[in-house]
Amino acid sequence: MAKEIGTIGVMTSGGDSPGMNAAIRAVARACSYYNVKCIGFYRGYQGMIENDYCEMNARSVRNIISSGGTILKSARSDDFRTAEGRKKAADNLKEIGVDAMILIGGDGTFRGGKLFSEEHGISVIGVPGTIDNDIAGTNFTIGYDTALNTVVEAIDKIRDTASSHDRLFFVEVMGRDAGFIALNSGVGAGAEEILIPEEDLGLDRLLESLKRSKRSGKTSSIVVVSEGDKIGKNVYELADYVTENLPNYDVRVTVLGHMQRGGTPTCFDRTLASRLCVRAVELLLDGEKNVMVGLINNKITFTNFEEGLKEDHGINKELLRISDILSV
Ligand code: ATP
Repeated sequence: MAKEIGTIGVMTSGGDSPGMNAAIRAVARACSYYNVKCIGFYRGYQGMIENDYCEMNARSVRNIISSGGTILKSARSDDFRTAEGRKKAADNLKEIGVDAMILIGGDGTFRGGKLFSEEHGISVIGVPGTIDNDIAGTNFTIGYDTALNTVVEAIDKIRDTASSHDRLFFVEVMGRDAGFIALNSGVGAGAEEILIPEEDLGLDRLLESLKRSKRSGKTSSIVVVSEGDKIGKNVYELADYVTENLPNYDVRVTVLGHMQRGGTPTCFDRTLASRLCVRAVELLLDGEKNVMVGLINNKITFTNFEEGLKEDHGINKELLRISDILSV
């Protein structure tokens, strides 16, 4: 393996996701394995701008594979959106002697990384770490599987109380621009209706579906709603609308919120993080740059950022059909 890179930096950026620690661990351990120095930057791009970093070795990442969150912390950095901020970060990396960066984050992190590398010639590799799963260059992002399991467990509990009191629950889940969490957790938890940003199912259809549920003998229902659902009403407005139009329903709202980002990562997310990050280090050592790694058809692949960030990230609308059939 041709090695021209002596120091690799790593950071976590954007919304945190379970499995980011497993990813950091894999970068630090792979660097150690290949005798490359590893530097961890705190708070994503902001730490690069403020020169806030630590040297990492194989032992500094002990016992973190099982913990949620990120030991390097995460942040959204407005400074990095400016040319001056990015220049400051590049100057810092050059001064410390960081040859390449591994960026663990979502689509925004990759957009910033692409710009950074174009402007300053520093090699970067993106590792998809976000609960949203909204990145085209991979079938799965780190943290998505854990978030799904968290949501399904929460909805199972809500269903217990919904059925005890014959109630209709609207459950809001994360996903401002992508309905992956709503769609998959909705099918997994047996929701009666699923509202996502990619498809406007309309209020009439929602009312019709709830009436049909009642007629078919259901006494309680769960409607899973993505934060950014296309109908354009927030979950409380949806609940009010149903209460006005179907007064027989006892309607309640639960917003799951930030609990969806936390918790012990599933085995799937730990393994995914480990595979992606070992590959990211190896790609840099092989002279590859400015790509994102991903898992496609169970193979670790790499894709240039333009491809990986395509708008259509391929939500499986077939699941809406399955949900319709199964909520009869
Ligand atoms: P998540 O999907 O969990 O929200 P993300 O990586 O998409 O994660 P963002 O807040 O969109 O989260 O992006 C992370 C950071 O990347 C931003 O705070 C900003 O510093 C940087 N960034 C995003 N877009 C750009 C851009 N177009 N130019 C420069 N920097 C950017």
